[in-house]
This record gives sequence, C-alpha cells and structure tokens, in this order.
Amino acid sequence: MINTDKDIRTLEMVYEALEKERVRVFYQPQFDPKDGELKSAEALCRIENEYHELIMPGEFIPVLEKQESPEAIRNFDWYIFTRVCSFLRRLRNKGMRLIPISVNLSRRHLITDPSEAYLTTTAKLMGIPHRYLGVEITESAKEDDPIELQRLIYRIRQQGFMVAIDDFGTGQSNFRFLIDNHVDIIKLDQSLIRHKCEDPQEQVVVAGLIHIAKMLGMTVVAEGVEDIRQWNFLRDHGCDLIQGFMPSEPLSENDFIEFYHGATGDI
Ligand code: C2E
Ligand code: MG
Ligand code: MG
Repeated sequence: MINTDKDIRTLEMVYEALEKERVRVFYQPQFDPKDGELKSAEALCRIENEYHELIMPGEFIPVLEKQESPEAIRNFDWYIFTRVCSFLRRLRNKGMRLIPISVNLSRRHLITDPSEAYLTTTAKLMGIPHRYLGVEITESAKEDDPIELQRLIYRIRQQGFMVAIDDFGTGQSNFRFLIDNHVDIIKLDQSLIRHKCEDPQEQVVVAGLIHIAKMLGMTVVAEGVEDIRQWNFLRDHGCDLIQGFMPSEPLSENDFIEFYHGATGDI
C-alpha cells in the first residue's frame, strides 16, 4: 500500500487533531417510530479543523483503514469508544438516565485483536454497565475470515455488549451472515429506502427484511430516514427504531444533552 501525498496530509491532520483534542464525537438519536421516544444513539466521529469546520469521517477513516498496520484505525476507534464511555459518565453525573450508545468499529483490526478485552477494560474503568454500549460492524470484506468473525461476535456478546450489523442490504452484506451469526441489532442501509418506501418492490423487500430480522429475534434499525412516508411505512411494518435526518441529525455532545433533556425531562 502506498500513501499518496493527499493520504499523508490526511494522516497528519488526524494525528494533529488527536493531539490538539479536536476530534469530536457526534451522537445521532434513534427513536421508536410508534411514539417518537428517544431510545438510543449512534456515535459518529468528526474532526474540527482550525477554521471550526467539521471534516466528515468519509474523508479520513478510509485512509486510516488502508494503512499497512491496523494500529492506525484501531487506536482511533478505541479513542472514540473511550470518549463515548466518558460521555455516558457525564450523563450519569448529571443525573440523567443512560441510553445505549453504539460505536462504529472498523473491520480492519477487529479480528486480529482481543477487542472484547479492550471494551471490557475501558467500560470497567469508566464504570459503565456493558448493556449501554454497543458496537457496529459492517459485514464482509472479501478477505475476512467468517469463522473468526463469528467467534469475535460471540465473545463481544458474551461480555454483555450489543453487536449491530451495519449497512445491511448493501453490496457488503449477505444472507449467509444472518444464518451464521447471532447479533442483537440489524441496521438496514439507507439505500434500501431510497424511494421513500413508495416503490412496490422496495416495500416488499424492506417489509420482508424486517420480518426476517424479527423472526431471528433481532432489533431492526432503519438508517437514513428523511421523510414522513418512510417513518410511517417503517412503523407500520414493525421496524423497532428509526435514525435519520428527519427525526434528528447527529448532534454535538452539548446539543445532544439539551435534546435529551427536552425529550425525556431528565435533568
Ligand atoms: P454509518 O455507521 O452507516 O453511519 C451513518 C451515516 O449516515 C452517518 O454519516 C450519518 O451522518 C449519515 N446519516 C444519518 N442520517 C442520515 C439521513 O437521513 N440521510 C443521509 N443521507 N445520511 C444520514 P457520517 O457521520 O458521515 O459517517 C459515515 C461513515 O463513517 C459511518 O457510516 C461509519 O461507517 C463511519 N464512521 C463514523 N464514525 C466512525 C468511527 O468512529 N470509527 C469508524 N471505524 N468508522 C466511523
Ligand atoms: Mg454505523
Ligand atoms: Mg450504516
């Protein structure tokens, strides 16, 4: 793997942001579509540059992931996980009820590392019960070993963390995964509801996927909900949670606390 000049500048930007504490974690709320209640959230990283502009993960995560050593993305992901634990602590210190928060973990380092040991140690240090923490992983880059992945998912779940399969329904995922693995949450990719759930074929596929996931005992989260038609369709077909710009964009820590306070009446 050869880094282009642009990759090198990106890496420098990430390391500088870590050093100067300009990595931000945003939280996108997930809601019960039946009553609009806030139930959980996903942590999404951003970097704030010197002009206070936000640089999105799509610009730097792939560069960290493609480094020869898996350490680059691993250290970054663990940093975000730790930040999420301290955010939950902050909520608790404010007397607020905790809700589960999930963190995206890159496939690049998951299998080679004893990831569940890191998760457990960090959660313990921060005093966060495991049930409030989840990890999102995307299924199946070609080079992955499915048996190793299965074992890892098992070990993480054994420790009481939730495991979500992210972006289900894109080129990156297949039904074999659902046969071989037990996960807690399946996240339907936003591309599946691109036609606002009004296209008859889209309706059949989305309703069918929700049904399959529910029969497997999984919680179904729909990503990318931007429109009331999607919300209604997903609710009517038994989707458990919705996440998207329509109910709420990803929020900074402080905005999330304010939003949470408004939504739950917690202090
Ligand atoms: P993802 O995990 O599938 O996250 C959902 C993405 O969809 C987020 O983009 C979110 O802002 C965006 N989104 C949410 N609602 C809507 C909507 O209604 N419409 C549309 N069009 N988009 C919506 P974001 O924050 O740019 O993140 C992109 C990807 O970067 C994430 O996809 C995830 O794979 C990765 N990522 C983010 N944070 C981390 C991290 O800490 N570690 C790792 N390894 N990957 C991360
Ligand atoms: Mg995700
Ligand atoms: Mg996703």
